[in-house]
Amino acid sequence: MKTGVAKDCYNLVAVAKIIKLRRNVDLTGYNSLRVQAKAKYFLDADSTRQLTQLPSEPVFILGQGCNTLFTRDFAGLIIKTNFKGRQVIAQKGNNVMVEIAAGEDWPQTIAWTVAQNWAGLENLALIPGSVGSAPIQNIGAYGQSLDEVFHALHAVELASGKTRVFSKKECRFLYRDSIFKHELKDKYLVTALTLKLITHLQQPTTSYYSRYESLATELTKLAARPPYTVKDIFRAVISLRTQKLPDWRKTGTAGSFFKNPFVTKTKLAQLQDRVPKLQYYPTTGMDYPQLDDPTFDHSQYFKIPAGRLLDELGWRGKTIGRVSTFAKHALVVINLGGATGREIYAYTEKMRADVKKSFDIDLEYEVNII
Ligand SMILES: Cc1cc2nc3c(=O)[nH]c(=O)nc-3n(C[C@H](O)[C@H](O)[C@H](O)COP(=O)(O)OP(=O)(O)OC[C@H]3O[C@@H](n4cnc5c(N)ncnc54)[C@H](O)[C@@H]3O)c2cc1C
Repeated sequence: MKTGVAKDCYNLVAVAKIIKLRRNVDLTGYNSLRVQAKAKYFLDADSTRQLTQLPSEPVFILGQGCNTLFTRDFAGLIIKTNFKGRQVIAQKGNNVMVEIAAGEDWPQTIAWTVAQNWAGLENLALIPGSVGSAPIQNIGAYGQSLDEVFHALHAVELASGKTRVFSKKECRFLYRDSIFKHELKDKYLVTALTLKLITHLQQPTTSYYSRYESLATELTKLAARPPYTVKDIFRAVISLRTQKLPDWRKTGTAGSFFKNPFVTKTKLAQLQDRVPKLQYYPTTGMDYPQLDDPTFDHSQYFKIPAGRLLDELGWRGKTIGRVSTFAKHALVVINLGGATGREIYAYTEKMRADVKKSFDIDLEYEVNII
């Protein structure tokens, strides 16, 4: 007679065959920091049917691993999102609604929308990763963030295998944040996004890039006079990112390791006395945690670059063992080759402790630590 355990093993073998589950998979090629770790089970998912027969194991959902640090082997199931496809689902007036599958590559998707002259995503060019990960931390760059064009997302609840559509409100987007980093973390697998883009940019808005001096300067170098086109902005963003960030296909990195902190006006004044040329950005128009609070006074809060604080403390290019930061950007931690996830984590904890001790600011991780 079979015992309960033996029966479970038997079922798992059968399920593994049906849904193409792999065992003991090396994750080095599945994370942009290039750290070595193993997954007990690994599933390449490209159909929702596979998600209805999952073994009962702890789950981590993976896109391209550009925002994930594995500090240990994962004793559960990693589901890699491979759903493919993109299509126009509606076109009305000045808008086009597109549906893009979660496994599509984000930089290629932006290149596709810009090639059609559709506006709304051009500042988010060259952010590495998959489409399905973009809403998880509400990706953003150069004053634009995903939620501005987000309409809805399609997801599968892993516990039940049921599909569900989330509206923008239900996703609770904030600055580098959403409900999927909290209550619904690892509970829903995003299968597709619906985005609402602008087809004819009559009056290009300049407010977002005028706040970003580097982008404004790059535009004057690369493009004719304003009004700039979607393609101008796309090219300028790519040019800046190529100059300022390491190439993740060659260097082990996860981009910015920490979120940029928000500080009060008083705190900003104190920091400016100690940190020369500290840039700061108004919180107006940003998804600030207290946005829904009508008493929240935006004029009293500013976003400041965490990289500048780290720079001031000597972290730019500082090497400890096999871990360092990019020579041009103290917020961008890099694996010099062969560093373990634990070594990288120990390094970033030292950064955090230094900023806390020196400026009394708690840096929050942007990268997902596993
Ligand atoms: C060089 C570099 C520059 C970067 N610049 C920026 C930047 O300017 N702005 C910015 O916002 N980010 C930036 N990032 C971070 C990163 O590119 C984004 O967070 C991106 O969305 C990660 O995509 P991914 O598929 O690699 O995510 P992963 O690392 O695979 O996953 C990230 C998170 O999303 C979850 N997830 C992934 N897929 C799904 C899914 N289908 N359903 C549910 N949950 C899912 C994971 O569980 C994890 O919690 C940068 C990273 C690098 C390496």
